[in-house]
Amino acid sequence: MKAFFIEEPGKTCVKDIAVPAPGAGEVLIKVMAVGLCGTDAHLYMGDYENPYPVIPGHEFSGIVEAVGAGVKNFRPGQHVAADPNIYCEACDHCKQNRQNYCLDYRGLGNQVPGAFAQYIVMPERCVYDIGSLDFTTASMIEPLACVLHGHDRARPGFGDRVLILGAGAIGLLHLQVCKNDGARLTAVADIKEEPLRLAKELGADAVLFNDHTMKEQADAVAEGGFDLVIDCTGVPKVIEQAVPLMADEGRLLFFGVCPQDAEISVNPYEIYQRELTFIGSNSLKKTFYSAMQQLKSGKVNVSKLFGDKILLDELPRQIQAFAEKKTKLKTVVYPNGFVS
Ligand SMILES: [Zn+2]
Ligand SMILES: [Zn+2]
Repeated sequence: MKAFFIEEPGKTCVKDIAVPAPGAGEVLIKVMAVGLCGTDAHLYMGDYENPYPVIPGHEFSGIVEAVGAGVKNFRPGQHVAADPNIYCEACDHCKQNRQNYCLDYRGLGNQVPGAFAQYIVMPERCVYDIGSLDFTTASMIEPLACVLHGHDRARPGFGDRVLILGAGAIGLLHLQVCKNDGARLTAVADIKEEPLRLAKELGADAVLFNDHTMKEQADAVAEGGFDLVIDCTGVPKVIEQAVPLMADEGRLLFFGVCPQDAEISVNPYEIYQRELTFIGSNSLKKTFYSAMQQLKSGKVNVSKLFGDKILLDELPRQIQAFAEKKTKLKTVVYPNGFVS
């Protein structure tokens, strides 16, 4: 089978390797659609400590090809997606429902071979039946599950005024979930006009063009600041800029992933005096199922969030363009040929 490798930071290739065999309790999945994520670009740029070579990719859907011994709930031909976070469910953290701190954590596309390949094996407990959901939409279950985990953490309330920094696919998922959660006002900021037009189309009450007038624009939209600011950029400078946009008692959700060694400067007196809350959100935790239901029911619509649709052979060029921020919205890769 063909698989895409990051051999070392900045160096990629597509190689032929053996199709993995499903072990006991494992499902072999023919990968039909995979989303390209910021995490993949960070791996490509060498921003994380991670073993190389690595097959990245963790936002995928596909068809069950074969099952290993003891697999009860899946059979060949079933359409599926999988939670790429492989938790042990046995350590102290897992037992306390803190699976994203699992002591034996294995992340697909990081510690174990990822989904930018024609086939992949997953433990049965991570696999979900997507029913009639199309493969491209189903590749968005994982990003939406991360967004829902962020909302579990930040708990947007009825009547909150929310500002989303970054109008990429993730920002536009947050926008829809905030609206469903009953936000009083939603605003989206970006440095480009085109994604802001899409944010408007998807129901943003206001859009802010992120230039030197951002603070004035924000004040005009939400006097006194935003109750919740969600950073989806992972750009330290943008996060610093967010603090003055927060209302008293405001919350700032760190959703975008900054480089591991980045630092930001904040004024601790301001955090004290204005009772600000900073919240981290790391991947997902038991939100995969609810994300899948949100897509099946149409509560969240991802049809406009896709950018380039490519084959596996085109990925080396695309990941470079993505790292240079030259792509838009969510790139989807089809390792076994184009499907819907
Ligand atoms: Zn991702
Ligand atoms: Zn564990």
